[in-house]
Amino acid sequence: MLLIWLAVVGLLGILIGHPVELLAIFLLAFIVFQYRRLQQLYRWSKRSNDNNVPFEDGLLGQIAEDIFQSKKQRLAQKESVKYQLERFKKLISVFPDGVVILSLSNEIQWFNDQAARLLILKKEDTGQLINHLVRHPRFTSFLKNMTSDDAIVMEAPIMETNWSAEKIEIRLLPYGDDERLLLVRDVTKVERTNQVRKDFVSNASHELRTPLTVMKGYVEMLLASTANEKAQVGASLRKVDQQVVKMQTMIEELLTLSRLEEGKVESLDSIVNLRGVCEQVKSELQSAAQQRKQIFNFDIPPSLNLKANKSSVLTIMRNLVGNAINYADKKGEINVGWLIDDQGNGVLYVKDNGKGIAARHLARLTERFYRVAENNVMNKTGTGLGLAIVKHELERHEAQLRIDSTEGKGSCFQCVFPAERVDQ
Ligand code: ADP
Repeated sequence: MLLIWLAVVGLLGILIGHPVELLAIFLLAFIVFQYRRLQQLYRWSKRSNDNNVPFEDGLLGQIAEDIFQSKKQRLAQKESVKYQLERFKKLISVFPDGVVILSLSNEIQWFNDQAARLLILKKEDTGQLINHLVRHPRFTSFLKNMTSDDAIVMEAPIMETNWSAEKIEIRLLPYGDDERLLLVRDVTKVERTNQVRKDFVSNASHELRTPLTVMKGYVEMLLASTANEKAQVGASLRKVDQQVVKMQTMIEELLTLSRLEEGKVESLDSIVNLRGVCEQVKSELQSAAQQRKQIFNFDIPPSLNLKANKSSVLTIMRNLVGNAINYADKKGEINVGWLIDDQGNGVLYVKDNGKGIAARHLARLTERFYRVAENNVMNKTGTGLGLAIVKHELERHEAQLRIDSTEGKGSCFQCVFPAERVDQ
C-alpha cells in the first residue's frame, strides 16, 4: 500500500514540477500519522479493562490482536490465582488451629480467624510486629531463639469475650524463603488434664506418706521384739519392712518429680563445689559399697565449681552412684570423674564395671517406672524413678544425660553441663 501511495504522490509531484518536496511532505505526514496510531495502541495496551481493539487491519491491527489475546490470557490467569488464593484462605480459616504468616522480622503478613481469637489480633494488625501485640516474656524469647521443632506452651492473652483459651501452644516453622509460619493451638484441656494428673500424684503421695511412716514404726518395733522368737516371723517382718521402705522411697521420689514438674523457681545459679558434693555422697553411700566390697574412686578437681542448685546436684549424684552400687558387680569398681568434652562442655561421669544394659533399653531408661527386668534380680527395691528424676534435674540446668553401656562390661552415666555453668 505504501509503495502505491509513494508512486501516486511521486507522479503527482512530477506533474506539478516538485516531486521531491511533495514526497517529503507525504512521508512526514505518514510518519506523524503512524506515530499517533502507535501511541493510541500503546495507551490501549496499558488499559487492562478495555477490550475494544483499536485497529482491525494492517500490521498494527495484527499487533493489537496479539496484545488482546495475551491480555485475555493474563486476566484468566489472574482470576485463577485469585480463586486459588481464596480457596486456600477458606481452607486455612476452617483449620482448628491458628495460623499466622510472619516475615523474618516478625511482621504479621496474614492470619486466620482462629489465630485472631487465640492471640487477640485485629484486621488492622496486619503489618505490625507480632511481639508488640503478643506480650509475653516466653513468647519474646521463643521468637528470638527458636529452633524449628520447638514448641512452647504459655498462658493465652486475656480477652474480654467469653470465648476462653487459658493455655496455648505455639510452634514456628520456616515457610518459603523469607517468611515463617506461626501455628497456635488451644491446649487448655490437655493442660488441665495434665494438671489434674500432677495434682493427683502429688496429693496421693502426700496422703500415703503418713500411714507408711506409722507402719514402718510398728514393723521396726515388732522386728526388735521378735528378735528372739521364731526365725520365720522375723523373716516375714523383714520382707514387710523391705516393701515399706520401697513404698516410702517411691513416694519420696514421686513427690520430688511432681515438685520438679511444677517448675517452682529456686536458684539454679548458686556456686556449688563439686568435690564437696561428691564427698558428701561418698560418705552417705560408703557403707553400702563396703557391704558389696566395691571400690570407690572419686577424681574431681578440688577447685571445680558448677553454677547449679546444690540439692539438685546431690540428688543426681545420689541416684547415679546409688545405681552403680546396686547394679555393679560385687567387688566391682566405681569411678566418679570429670572431664571437658570436644565442645567445651563439662562432663561429670559415674562409671561402673557391672553387668551393663542391653542397647534396646537405653532410650527408655529415663521413663518413669522403667526398669530392666534382667538387671533387677538382686535389687528388688528399686522404683524405676531415679533416672527420670536425674533427667528432669539436668534439664532444669540445660544439661543432658548421656548413657553409654555395654552388656557384660559396665555402664557410664554422663551428666553434660554447658560450658557457661562450669567454673574451673
Ligand atoms: P531404679 O534403680 O530405682 O530401678 P532408675 O530409674 O534409677 O530406677 O534406673 C532404671 C533402671 O536402669 C534400673 O532398674 C536398672 O535396671 C537400670 N540401671 C540403672 N543404672 C544402672 C547401672 N549402673 N547398671 C546397670 N543397670 C542400670
